[in-house]
This record gives sequence, structure tokens and C-alpha cells, in this order.
Amino acid sequence: MAQDQNIIIVGSGMAGYTLLREIRKIDKTIYITLICADSGDFYSKPMLSNALDKQKPPESLVMLSAQKMIETQNFELINHTRITSIDTTNQQVNSDTQSWHYSQLILATGATPFVLPIQGNGAADILSVNSLDDYKRFYLQLEQAESVAIIGPGLIGCEFANDLLTANKQVSIIGPDPWPISKLLPESIGIYLQQKLQQLGVEFHLQKTVESVAKIDTGYQLSLNDNSEITADLVLSAVGLRANLDLAESSALKTDRAYVVDKMLQTNTQNIYALGDCAEVEGHHLPYILPIMQCARALAKTLTGTTTPVTYPAMPVAIKTPACPLVVASPATSQNNWQCTETENGIKALCYQQDKLVGFALAGDQIIEKQSLTQLLPVIL
Ligand SMILES: Cc1cc2nc3c(=O)[nH]c(=O)nc-3n(C[C@H](O)[C@H](O)[C@H](O)COP(=O)(O)OP(=O)(O)OC[C@H]3O[C@@H](n4cnc5c(N)ncnc54)[C@H](O)[C@@H]3O)c2cc1C
Repeated sequence: MAQDQNIIIVGSGMAGYTLLREIRKIDKTIYITLICADSGDFYSKPMLSNALDKQKPPESLVMLSAQKMIETQNFELINHTRITSIDTTNQQVNSDTQSWHYSQLILATGATPFVLPIQGNGAADILSVNSLDDYKRFYLQLEQAESVAIIGPGLIGCEFANDLLTANKQVSIIGPDPWPISKLLPESIGIYLQQKLQQLGVEFHLQKTVESVAKIDTGYQLSLNDNSEITADLVLSAVGLRANLDLAESSALKTDRAYVVDKMLQTNTQNIYALGDCAEVEGHHLPYILPIMQCARALAKTLTGTTTPVTYPAMPVAIKTPACPLVVASPATSQNNWQCTETENGIKALCYQQDKLVGFALAGDQIIEKQSLTQLLPVIL
């Protein structure tokens, strides 16, 4: 179907659907086509790493079916369809079999889990969870598993570790980091989290990497770089995500860690925009929900005629580890001067640069200071 004005959104994740909803708040009739490789059912991705705790099986994670989204948001959905190239001269996106004309194109293609170069005949069985379909596979296999080895002691790895504990699984976590979530948390809070998870039974194998995963009768044997071995019924990789930038090649879109966009969320090509995990806004690649909300609100205004730059206030991230509630607003640089105060049931770490508060990490009962501290932080953009 060709339309003179046709906003095409590629991707039905939080970024694609939040943008669609924000446009509809402003304009009920503008023609919108949403194309996605998956079903187009709407779900909350953050729920994937605490669904066991919330006793939510995969089917109950769908918040609105694709059909319901169409009925409530008035758009054309082309699901189960992968866009393979962009023809910027004719303003068309192409799948292997079809083309669609766009007046404005928005890339909300998200990110894909990194795959580590791990040897062994069990390496292909390593799971990662970055979509509802991934979660369905993981959930099915989990039913038969008593123990899970998680590769990657970062935010997602620790959230899954905590969640698996609530389902009575034995959990081990392996990774080269000196302490859990070391990219975001200062040492004192990382170790505090580690102790809380250890008290509940999580086994940490830090400053180590997995070299191979072999199938054995009872599951998998992981061989680590210090010659130690771990066995587990299931192996989950949580080593980070890489933005999906496949469409850059055909369209000469500028990329760095993600599609490079300006404050208007426009790429280096006219009428092509990006937001979400696949976008780097003025040098900030923030793969979280709050930045998506900010971007979607601004971009909806721009696309409906009121050019609006995105703003990023300080946006702390709540980490879903109920064993040790955490909130972090991480400073942009690694040259950090953290000052920590430990209380009976928590820790507060404040990060200063030239006597100015630029970040914080709060654990345990200290998370109550989130609001008041957030107000003191500088804006990001
Ligand atoms: C387990 C987990 C827990 C998380 N918890 C939190 C949290 O607590 N708080 C927080 O702020 N953030 C959290 N995050 C991060 C947050 O969920 C993501 O930043 C956000 O969901 C990304 O949304 P997105 O729409 O950019 O990408 P995605 O959800 O990855 O969506 C990408 C979409 O693009 C489609 N697509 C990709 N390529 C193509 C193509 N070529 N053609 C057609 N369609 C395509 C896909 O099918 C999909 O529909 C979590 C992430 C994970 C994995």
C-alpha cells in the first residue's frame, strides 16, 4: 500500500511502540506502518528478568496482543518481516520480497546479545534472553533444570541470578569483572550485592572466563581459564548487547556504538531517525527505558510538525535484585571519586567531580534517597 505520507517504524519493542503511542496522542489519523521481525505483541522487556519472582509464565507477559495494538493505535502492522535494506533515493525500505515507501523512517531495531567465542560441543546450547521468544525457550528448558550457570556478572546477569534463586535453582555466575555490575557500581556496592546474593546461595566465579562448554550426561561442564570446572543443567549468557545496525550498509547511515543521531534523533540522512537501543544520541548510548520515553515524546512532536530536541535529565536505573535493592545513576566518565557511607542495612555511594555530585549508587535501605539525590544531579543532555 503506497501512501504519500507514511511514517514507517521498524521495530515493535519499547522504542517502536512508545513512539507510536506518543504520535497517536498528538495525531489520530496520520498514516503509520510498523514493520517488525517478531509477532508485534507488546510486552515489557524488563519483566523478563524478574518474571519468576512475579510468578509470570511467558504467555502472561504479553500486555497487549498485536491485534489489540492495531485496534487501539490505528496503524498498519507488517509483522514477521525483516527489513533488509533502505533505498534512500526512492525513500523505500525493502524486505527480501517487498518494498514500502516512507515519508519518514524511524529505526527502532534494538540490539542483539553478544556471542562469546566459546569452544566445545555445548557452546551452541548456551541461551541468552533479549526477547519474549528467547524467554519462552529459556522458561521451557528451566522446567527440567536444577542448576543454571550464568556467564556475565553484569546488571542482567545479576537480575537473572536473583530471579532464579526465587525459583529454587542453584546459580553460579562467571565473568572477568572484579565485582558484580562493575561497569555501573563502585566496588563497595558491587561487593555488598555480591555478599547478599552469596548469602542466598549464588556462587561467584569472578575474574575468570569460560573457555569451553561441553555436553555431559547430566547437563553441561564449563571449563574456566584457571583450569577450574563448573557443572550446570543450563547455561545462560548475559554478556551484553550489540546494537542492530544491519541497515546502515545499504543506506550509508553513520554508526558508532549505535546509529548516530542528533538531538532531533535524526541520522545523517534526511527523514531517517532512530531511537532506543539502536540509537546513540549526541554520543550517549543509554539502553534503558527512561531514555526511550524521553526520545519517543520528543520525536513524536518532531514527526507531527513541531521540531523538538530531546532532553535527558538524570535518569537513575533501578536494578531488580530484591536480595539487595539497588539504584544507580552512573557518571559519564570512569575518573570517579566515590565517597561511601555504610549503614546497618545499606550503603550510599556518592560520586563527585570537582566537588559536584555527578552520580550515585544506593543499596538496601539507602534507596529511599533516590528522589532527593536525583534532583541534585546535572542533566545529561
Ligand atoms: C532482561 C532485560 C531486563 C531489562 N531490564 C531493564 C530495566 O529494569 N530497566 C530499564 O530501564 N531497562 C531494562 N532493560 C533494557 C530495556 O528493556 C531496553 O533498553 C529496551 O527494551 C529496548 O527496546 P527497543 O525497542 O530499543 O529494542 P527491542 O526491544 O530489542 O526491539 C527491537 C525490535 O526491532 C525489531 N527488528 C530488529 N531488526 C529488524 C529488522 N531488520 N526488520 C524488522 N524488524 C526488526 C525486532 O523484531 C523488535 O521488534 C532490560 C533489558 C533486558 C534484556
